[in-house]
Amino acid sequence: MINDFFNKELFSYLQSSPTPFHAVENIEKYLLRHNFSLLRESERWQLERGQSYVVSRENGAVIAFSLGKNDSSEQGFRILAAHTDSPCLQIKPIADIEGNSFLKLGVEVYGGCLLNSWFDRDLSLAGRVCCETGNSKLDILLINFERPMLTIPSVAIHLDREANKNKTIHQQYHLPPIIAQKISGQLPSFDSILKKQLESLYPEKKIGAIFSFDMFCYDSQQPAYLGHNKEIISGSRLDNLLSCFVGMTGLAAAGNSHNNLLICSNHEENGSVSSTGASSSFIDSVLERIIPDPVTRRITLHNSFLVSMDNAHATHPNFKDRSDPAHKIYLNKGPVIKTNANQRYATSSISSARYKQLCIAANVTSQEFVMRSDMPCGSTVGPIIAARLGIKTVDVGAPTLAMHSIREHTGAEDPHLFYKTICQFLKTDSFH
Ligand SMILES: [Zn+2]
Repeated sequence: MINDFFNKELFSYLQSSPTPFHAVENIEKYLLRHNFSLLRESERWQLERGQSYVVSRENGAVIAFSLGKNDSSEQGFRILAAHTDSPCLQIKPIADIEGNSFLKLGVEVYGGCLLNSWFDRDLSLAGRVCCETGNSKLDILLINFERPMLTIPSVAIHLDREANKNKTIHQQYHLPPIIAQKISGQLPSFDSILKKQLESLYPEKKIGAIFSFDMFCYDSQQPAYLGHNKEIISGSRLDNLLSCFVGMTGLAAAGNSHNNLLICSNHEENGSVSSTGASSSFIDSVLERIIPDPVTRRITLHNSFLVSMDNAHATHPNFKDRSDPAHKIYLNKGPVIKTNANQRYATSSISSARYKQLCIAANVTSQEFVMRSDMPCGSTVGPIIAARLGIKTVDVGAPTLAMHSIREHTGAEDPHLFYKTICQFLKTDSFH
């Protein structure tokens, strides 16, 4: 059954999280509303059993945890992992490109984008800006334009008769989106466009010089139901904000009788190697503060279990030959357990069995994905965190069509089915 209330909350999280910075800020805000306390890495922590905490790093990654009032640390943590980033177009530091009366913005491709899906969309802009705000103070401000304002126009079929046969996209020349046209007077600069928006978002601040920014284009279209019976969800950044949302809501609903932890890290789409990526010291440093004694920490990790959450490829009805025929994946049939012989996924027979037991207990069906043997397999944060912590891990995710397109699709039942298994996980007593 479709859980419309849950999906609408997901839609609102997706729409208000156009960048990793917004995704992290929204997780923090949500958890603070649910009795979590804010921690900062720059301060000493006084942690108490039976309490829940949230800490973020450089706007891009966040860790939230509950210290179970019934658990000792040695009983281990139920850990959830997801990533906050999605493939997109990032604005270059010197952005302005003028041509044919237009102002365009230079862009780099972030992650493995399906670039053709970015043409002729009503794009908006969001990110963070580092600027002076009075008395030479450097401020880091999140910014979101929200309204549609940019486009990357296709070249007309009349001017490219081969467009439906041989389409190649030149990343340097074909992608700069149009943001303004000179009708009379001067074109605005990108800096001036940013400054104006900051002034309207932060009227209390005196916006001075803009030094730098991380700005991204995103699809301004709202998420929506598709299908005769609204059985399909269509939206941007389902990979992997769907998992961030399931993790955040599951953790808040679990209360604080058990040791539970959620990490949502940045930069998965380009390899997770950064100060906020899954390869960073973030999770180690938080666990060191929770459990300072190294031997106790090792015992805790041995008794812990990681559910690494990231979307899985559903079998495409028009491209069935791209999937293994014995491992068909359907929308609305529940979370997908992902395995790979070469450890691109961290699932083992043991962790797979544990997750299947969770699904049975939650009354949810599960599915099993492997890549076709003659095609290379993607990866995710699971193997990285499993290797860092030496912890039993399963890689699972919602079945998804058109992954890495500007619009992705999942089943309308899938977010809540996934959530039910995560709730079951967070209240399960023991994993060893
Ligand atoms: Zn992903």
